[in-house]
Amino acid sequence: MYKTDILAFGAHPDDVECAAAGVIIGTIQRGGTVVIVDLTKGEMGSHGVGGQREKEAINSANILGVGMREQLDLGDGNIFSNKANRDKVVRVIRKYRPKIVLANAFVDRHPDHGEAAKLVKDACFLSGLRKFSTDSGGEWQEPWRPAGVYHYIQDYFVAPSFVVDISMHFTRKMKAIKAYRSQFVTASDRMPSGSIALLKQIEATNQIFGRAINVEYAEGFVSESYVGLSDLQALL
Ligand SMILES: [Zn+2]
Repeated sequence: MYKTDILAFGAHPDDVECAAAGVIIGTIQRGGTVVIVDLTKGEMGSHGVGGQREKEAINSANILGVGMREQLDLGDGNIFSNKANRDKVVRVIRKYRPKIVLANAFVDRHPDHGEAAKLVKDACFLSGLRKFSTDSGGEWQEPWRPAGVYHYIQDYFVAPSFVVDISMHFTRKMKAIKAYRSQFVTASDRMPSGSIALLKQIEATNQIFGRAINVEYAEGFVSESYVGLSDLQALL
């Protein structure tokens, strides 16, 4: 039996917010459970220091309504699908037993994003193997394979496999993104032009995906395998 509806991985704190916050807010509002796991602390970012960015990630999780957020500290700019990292990610998957896993896009602006996509995909497969042994506090962990692994679309435009209406949650999504104050507000309290451009890009992308299903805003996801439905009526 699964424990968590969605386990959302991000290479850096704020990846999940920028690309999938609307889906997360909607899931929680319908009574679902979501856990966010940041693979790094984002320490290579041009703005903000470690402690400050950790606090911002917690503030943002509170805005989303996410009760649990972990940071694995794999090293910003240094994410790879190697044995040590796969072990760490499998441990988290088996701990939270998610129905759905969200991860970065395979092709994106930051090289960590593609590496994170591969790492999480590999770990989701290995997590289902009984002989891939991991423990938590000395206790053997049961194998677990999520029903779906979906890659959210962030910086680079990628054709989505499906899009999800987030019109009701868009305002709160932007509030959660802006909780990363060090990334969006300078010491002189002015928003850098790059940050303004990023917020505009997020809005425009969500509008484009929304337009495809005749709603105001939507988030897009890529699935490497077919997406199954138990009921055709679930489609918009
Ligand atoms: Zn990132």
